[in-house]
Amino acid sequence: MGAHKSDIVNTKNHPWLGVRWPVKGSTGNKYIVTMFNSGFDCDCMAYRKCKHIKEVEAKFEDVE
Ligand SMILES: [Zn+2]
Repeated sequence: MGAHKSDIVNTKNHPWLGVRWPVKGSTGNKYIVTMFNSGFDCDCMAYRKCKHIKEVEAKFEDVE
C-alpha cells in the first residue's frame, strides 16, 4: 500500500510528516490519513486517492 503523491502539498521533508488526521467517512466510519515523504496514505480500502485524502489536502489549500 503506497502513499498517494499530493499535487497540493509538497510532502517531502514536510514538518508534519507522520501526522495522522482522523476523517469521518460518509457511512460514519472513521479513517486515518497519514502524511509520508511520498504523499498521503489512508487506511480505507480505496486503491486510488480517496476523498479522505482530498479532504485533508483541502485543509492545506485553505492556509496557503
Ligand atoms: Zn480513504
